[in-house]
Amino acid sequence: MTKVHLSKSELPKIIANIEANGGDASELRAILEDSPKANHPEEMSDDEVVNYNRSISTVQEGEGLVCSMCKKTSPRLTSGTCDQCFRSWSLSCKAAIVKMRRKDGSSNHG
Ligand SMILES: [Zn+2]
Repeated sequence: MTKVHLSKSELPKIIANIEANGGDASELRAILEDSPKANHPEEMSDDEVVNYNRSISTVQEGEGLVCSMCKKTSPRLTSGTCDQCFRSWSLSCKAAIVKMRRKDGSSNHG
């Protein structure tokens, strides 16, 4: 009976949460604008999520690029981060959304 759908009205909360913690939610903002599947990240594989996020991100390639998260040099930066950091960031966003969707009607007190 209680079925929770992640609506676009919830995504801004996640974005606000990420940004409050000093994260970069620009890709999520893009998802908010244009997202056929992004409202259902649990239906996407990890790779799909990463690839989807990458497809809507700015990718830089070249020498001397430095990841803004781990500060290591990388031949490719996606949204300012290396492949590893971008992947973990993407999956943490997916996890946050999936976790949020699981929180359905089980709360008694606020
Ligand atoms: Zn990195």
